[in-house]
Amino acid sequence: HPKSNKPRISLLVAAPRGFCAGVDRAIKIVELAIEKYGAPVYVRHEIVHNRYVVDELKTLGAIFVEELDEVPDGVPVVFSAHGVPKAVPHKAAERGLNYLDATCPLVSKVHRQAERQVEAGRHIIFVGHAGHPEVIGTFGQVDESMITLVETLEDVAALKPIDADKLSFLTQTTLSVDDTHAIVAALQERFPSIVGPKGEDICYATSNRQDAVKQIAASSDLVLVIGAPNSSNSLRLVEVAQRLGTDAYLIQRADEIDLEWMKGVGTLGLTAGASAPEILVREVVSYLEQYFVIDEQKIRTTEEHMVFKLPRGLEAA
Ligand code: SF4
Repeated sequence: HPKSNKPRISLLVAAPRGFCAGVDRAIKIVELAIEKYGAPVYVRHEIVHNRYVVDELKTLGAIFVEELDEVPDGVPVVFSAHGVPKAVPHKAAERGLNYLDATCPLVSKVHRQAERQVEAGRHIIFVGHAGHPEVIGTFGQVDESMITLVETLEDVAALKPIDADKLSFLTQTTLSVDDTHAIVAALQERFPSIVGPKGEDICYATSNRQDAVKQIAASSDLVLVIGAPNSSNSLRLVEVAQRLGTDAYLIQRADEIDLEWMKGVGTLGLTAGASAPEILVREVVSYLEQYFVIDEQKIRTTEEHMVFKLPRGLEAA
């Protein structure tokens, strides 16, 4: 064999990466619903924030819409993993729609906490990103006058609660672990009696992926994160790498890689957000192999064994 003239790249692949238990479950719910009820099955909002996943489900017979009133009568509808305001299942029930809730159980847990805090008379300070569907869903669990969004330390400093002794905090599941620690610490300093979850509501998958990317970013010249621009947890992975001083880019597919980025890169880090399937990781590796000799190494920071139960009625399908 002639010796390859391709430059060598040492590739560090983060583990854990990619699909979490909530995403896995949400996709299965759509697939099983199509199997059980036949196509079409409607899905309100992207089931998970990944175009590849959405396109695959479309070929099976899923139809994606943004609002419930786009769903015709008499067809099943699935709510996305990010969760929905209470008004959505209410309206679906009113219309007699057969709806399946693919809200991640870890998001539902935050929903129930929100209800409990409000029942206890506490105003909720919610740490999250404005406009994200999970935030809209969680806000929609309680009276809107009982919950306030904070995104930054400045937002915390500007809070003017009616009763500083009747406060609680909750968080989005896909935030930056480090930023959220700082925001929660600021809340606790300003409002010593504030009630909140132990740690935060950041989920195991988000924190494990951030730990793993930290590990590889420290020894990489460049980090690529596979994920969608509207995927909160994927964006956080890019930030975590960049904060360690490593260049990092978010890509949806291999064809978004600019070979210019690879100039002078001896060690490349690779990871994927919780909604990005492993097939896209392999696609990126194959693409790079056209130009480089890839010496691939998996860097595992922890094992994951989380599996969530399917909704009743679909298990048997
Ligand atoms: Fe659930 Fe976390 Fe996955 Fe979101 S990222 S679906 S909260 S496990």
